[in-house]
Amino acid sequence: MADDVELAIAGGGLNGLLLGIACAGAGLEVAVVDREDPAKMLSAGFDGRTSAIAYGSRLVFEGLGLWPQIAGEAEPILEIRVADDASPLFVHYDHRELAPPGERAPLGYIVENRVLRRVLIERVNALPGLRLLAPRSVAGMAASAASAAVTLGDGARLGCRLVVGADGKDSPLRRAAGIRAVEWRYRQTGIVTTVQHERPHGGVAIEHFLSAGPFAILPMTGSRSSIVWTEHADLAPRLLSLPDGEFAVELGARFGDFLGAVTPVGPRWSYPLYLMQAERYAARRLALIGEAAHVIHPIAGQGLNIGVRDIAALAELIVDTRRLGLDIGEDGVLERYESWRRPDALLLAAVTDGLNRLFSNEIGPVRLARDVGLAVVNQLPPLKRLLMRHAMGVLGDRPRLARGEAL
Ligand SMILES: Cc1cc2nc3c(=O)[nH]c(=O)nc-3n(C[C@H](O)[C@H](O)[C@H](O)COP(=O)(O)OP(=O)(O)OC[C@H]3O[C@@H](n4cnc5c(N)ncnc54)[C@H](O)[C@@H]3O)c2cc1C
Repeated sequence: MADDVELAIAGGGLNGLLLGIACAGAGLEVAVVDREDPAKMLSAGFDGRTSAIAYGSRLVFEGLGLWPQIAGEAEPILEIRVADDASPLFVHYDHRELAPPGERAPLGYIVENRVLRRVLIERVNALPGLRLLAPRSVAGMAASAASAAVTLGDGARLGCRLVVGADGKDSPLRRAAGIRAVEWRYRQTGIVTTVQHERPHGGVAIEHFLSAGPFAILPMTGSRSSIVWTEHADLAPRLLSLPDGEFAVELGARFGDFLGAVTPVGPRWSYPLYLMQAERYAARRLALIGEAAHVIHPIAGQGLNIGVRDIAALAELIVDTRRLGLDIGEDGVLERYESWRRPDALLLAAVTDGLNRLFSNEIGPVRLARDVGLAVVNQLPPLKRLLMRHAMGVLGDRPRLARGEAL
């Protein structure tokens, strides 16, 4: 039976849309299927998060011609301060320490997810080789040695060479393929909201470790910051339901007064926090990307960035294989994808989980050890630079897009 498309992507979240754009932009026939209505995905109430976009992810957006549309609404991160509760010790990163003046770049950017989603959907609509089938759901897939097919909830069938599961943390395709995962829920909830403050933030991002978990203040455009407030899961519902004035007092007590008066603006959001690592990122004619493959704690703002690196790697393998006239769904392509991407995602899962356990801890010797650790990192410029370059996504075996080259 003839293929309807070359690549079928289940899930049109940020990762599924971006992979579709990368591959359709390189000439493939692609379908992205999502069960949500695109109009709902673009509404103000859909996702209140901002994303810390690492410099390496910016290069990927740039390589796909998307950065000019994002740049005007992206706030550069010029400094990062990491502080422990009630301790004078902190790590301070400054973008000026990392490169000579002519090559200086911000450490990353803060962009609202609704901005990213709008820019991606606009590009999807402009690409002739890309079909967004939404709202429609994927019910399953079948694969043989020669081809694959996705079945939709309404019974329609989509023949293709390769299926990508970008269908999120609970990935129905991952489960149907029998790929097991290591997963647990943290006893923490991420409370997300936006605040307006009296004084400008100067591009400084702050990670303040409190006993319940990290309290992050992320610079947004204007005198606004996005708050990612990690709280005990059993306390979060009470905080989320407080009247505005009382919520502002609780938030202000954690924020401090270094930017003058602080006022919460806009809604409060909450996200249960998880760790999940799929045991494999591929099965016959199936590749997993983004949260279908791995979910990490938001402590380091890296979840989406790992997904962007999955996309840069998988798109490169697909496009190179197709240029040689070979089968993009062949086992060898998927094996290379898995061995390229798993070490990076596993490392970040271990680092973020370890940091969260270390800092959400009130035991005296543990507190002392971590404060000494912060001080040591701060006093060792080469170690500091190495950690920062890893967080910026500019280390390791990077795909062409993540090196700022064309696909
Ligand atoms: C509080 C918080 C803060 C964060 N901050 C950052 C940050 O600063 N920087 C960063 O890099 N990352 C951050 N992250 C992580 C980041 O938001 C996620 O990694 C990213 O949004 C995941 O995108 P995704 O496309 O993989 O998955 P999802 O957004 O879950 O998308 C999956 C899509 O699949 C669709 N779907 C599922 N099943 C089906 C089906 N059967 N048929 C059709 N469609 C289906 C769903 O409708 C959905 O649209 C944060 C996360 C949290 C919780």
